[in-house]
Amino acid sequence: MSCAPALLIEHVTHAYGERVALDDVSFTVARGSCTALLGLNGAGKTTLFSLVTRLFAARRGRISVFGFDIDRDPGEALRRLGVVFQARTLDLDLSVAQNLRYHAALHGLGGREAKARGAEMLARMELSGRAGEKARHLSGGQMRRVEIARALLHAPRLLVLDEPTVGLDINSRAGILRHLRALVAQTGLTVLWATHLLDEVEPTDEVVVLHKGRILATGSAQVVIAAQGKKDIGGAFSALIAEPATADAESPQ
Ligand code: ATP
Repeated sequence: MSCAPALLIEHVTHAYGERVALDDVSFTVARGSCTALLGLNGAGKTTLFSLVTRLFAARRGRISVFGFDIDRDPGEALRRLGVVFQARTLDLDLSVAQNLRYHAALHGLGGREAKARGAEMLARMELSGRAGEKARHLSGGQMRRVEIARALLHAPRLLVLDEPTVGLDINSRAGILRHLRALVAQTGLTVLWATHLLDEVEPTDEVVVLHKGRILATGSAQVVIAAQGKKDIGGAFSALIAEPATADAESPQ
């Protein structure tokens, strides 16, 4: 258990009726890594997150979080997992602090602990001064940072985010990534974020390339770039999705 990866996805397949959204997907997310799940629209990123968070049950395969199988040991697995969904989920008529408090109550945090954790997480997200404000008065980037603070209230060890920067301007996008990377570096949190915005990836990030429901490459961005003989992740990604036959043969099992 102690050496289990933060996230293990093993031979996961999921279909909506006849449409196969994930086809025998396997990969791991290492503890303490900052891992980008890269895929175009329709690649299967949201489906995968829906399975990891148990919104849906996988048709086939196994998923575990820090060694805890999400079907057999859901309490232990979900306790270690924080989630930021693609759609905005703050209650706009409540204050930032009230939004956090509701979430803390759902996770069984007592009042004093909830308050202390909320203050700590808002400070990390550079939003300490905004606790009393209604969520609707925040910018899109600030709302996202509140959602990240909220997802971290119960002290999860793995944070998954589904396209957290979509719809934000370039400064806000950079701010979100800077905060996530700081959390990884300073607290040992593991981050898995889905994105189709390839410029967000840094050479030292881990990447998982998902295309049409299949994994085409995994590893550190610099290794994936070098393996494709390209100079950046955009070039490597284009090469991977242009050569499905070759990439399939190299898919990790
Ligand atoms: P996006 O970035 O557009 O959200 P994605 O990578 O998250 O894309 P998914 O939303 O997981 O991809 O979709 C994967 C495939 O499954 C797509 O072909 C999509 O049309 C299909 N799909 C997703 N949700 C449903 C659903 N509820 N019913 C039927 N098909 C679905």
